[in-house]
Order: sequence, then structure tokens, then C-alpha cells
Amino acid sequence: MKQIRKYLHPIIILIIFEVVAVTLWLTKNNLFYLFNFSYIGLSVSLGIFLFIRKYKHARRIVQLLVGLYMLVYLGLICHENMQIEGFWYYLFTGVFEAATIHYAVAKIFGPLIFGRGWCGYACWTAMVLDFLPYKTPKHPRKNIGWIRYITFAASLIFVAALFLAKAGNIERIMLLAFIIGNIVYYVTGIILAFAFRDNRAFCKYICPITVFLKPMSYYSLIRIKCKKDRCIECGKCRRVCPMDVDVTDNSRDRKNGTECILCMECVKNCPKDAL
Ligand code: SF4
Ligand code: SF4
Ligand code: SF4
Repeated sequence: MKQIRKYLHPIIILIIFEVVAVTLWLTKNNLFYLFNFSYIGLSVSLGIFLFIRKYKHARRIVQLLVGLYMLVYLGLICHENMQIEGFWYYLFTGVFEAATIHYAVAKIFGPLIFGRGWCGYACWTAMVLDFLPYKTPKHPRKNIGWIRYITFAASLIFVAALFLAKAGNIERIMLLAFIIGNIVYYVTGIILAFAFRDNRAFCKYICPITVFLKPMSYYSLIRIKCKKDRCIECGKCRRVCPMDVDVTDNSRDRKNGTECILCMECVKNCPKDAL
């Protein structure tokens, strides 16, 4: 009984994903959804299981399992543009299929439950950036987060222009946009990481998806909280945080609160088990 309680979280996560998988499979009459959400649910549950077993690379394993699946299988093999341009494209065509469902689950409504878990455990851009040497930022955060609104608007204008111009073979353009867009993201992300000595600089200043993720994750059900009676205010949690979150403040308005990617570095490093 004690063992089952210990592993309750991965079991619950697996059940939630299976419910989504079966519901979408039956309502959309498409076996793909059963495979897709079962695979993601199993990967995430495996990661939580490994985390409970104190395996230090648990998060990275989930990130690679889900990120590579999205990038290589869905993107490059199935030709689904899972970037933000793909979301606009399917939205404009009125198709509620892979990319729109992906955005609804992972990036728009899902963050109400699991915050920016997507950024910590699934994003294929961060999957590569997290291999770089600056796991914790070496300089204070810069005040240039407004750039994300420009990239967000650019992605929307790009797809709208394709529709207004009645571009031919738009599916092929979207595939090319996916490949070129990813290359641009990786190159920009790597340059910024070295320039700012911060692996997650791209996430903090450039990524357009944060325009969805940040406001929704403000209300996230799952949050790291501080047990004030245990905290000795040593500041270690803030020093190891890749996203500069003031995690000792339990309010929703805490500094950089909507940046938390639930990576658990603060939890692992707290000497008093206060998080
Ligand atoms: S902020 Fe953007 S690039 Fe960074 S992990 Fe989240 S979705 Fe990926
Ligand atoms: S690491 Fe733990 S004890 Fe230290 S400030 Fe953070 S929550 Fe408090
Ligand atoms: S270290 Fe803690 S506060 Fe910072 S992003 Fe990771 S889980 Fe969130």
C-alpha cells in the first residue's frame, strides 16, 4: 500500500493521458490519438517514476523521449508543422487536428494544470539548449522580454500573408517553414545562450509560445511551494533556478513566477526539504 502511494503521481498522470487518448481516439475516430497520447503519457510517467527513484537525469529522459518524437516523428516524418506557424495554419483552415490539439493541450489549457511543464519536459528546442554549458544563468535577467511579442506577431503575419496571397502548395510551404523555423530557433538559441551565458535565454526573451504559456501558467494548479517553517533563507533555490524564479515567495505574483518550468532543480537542491 505504501509503495502504491509512493508512485501515485505517475499512475495519476498515466490515467489522465489515457483518458485524453481514448476520448480523442473515439470522438475523432482516429487511432493516431490513442498512440500519440499513450506514448506521451508513458514517457512523462516514466520520468516521474525515475524522479521518485532519485535518478538525476529523469527530466532529461522525458525531454528526449517526447521532444524527439515531436520533432522527428510528427514534424519530419508525418509533416505536421508543430511550430506556432502550424497552429495558425490549422486554426485558419478550421481544422481541429494534431497541431491545434497539441497547442490546446500543451500550451493553452494544459498550463492551467501543469504550468510550463511543456518547457521543462517536452520542448524540442529546449531539449537541445539544455545540453549547453550554462545551466544556471551567469548574469541577471535582461529587460528584453518584449521581443517575444515581435516573434509572435511575425509568425501570425507570415501565415496570414500566405492565406491573403492565396499561396499555392501551402502544405509544402508549412513543411519548409517548420524545417527552416527550427534551424533558426536552434541557431538563435545557441548564440544567445553563449552571449548571455544562459542556456534558457531564448526561452526568456525570444520564444513566441510564451505569449500563450505565461498568462495561462499564472493560474497553474501544480506549483512549487515553500514550507516557510523549514526554510532557512539560504538562497540556494534561487541560485540553481534556470529561470530566475523567486520560489520562496508562495504568492502567484512572485518574481518570474510564470517562468517556472517545473524542472525541480530547486527541490533537489534545497538542504531543508522546504520545497
Ligand atoms: S519557452 Fe519556448 S523554446 Fe523555451 S521551452 Fe518553452 S516552448 Fe520551448
Ligand atoms: S533552498 Fe530551501 S532552505 Fe534555502 S532558501 Fe530555498 S527553500 Fe529556503
Ligand atoms: S528551479 Fe524550481 S522554481 Fe526554478 S524553474 Fe525549476 S522548478 Fe521552477
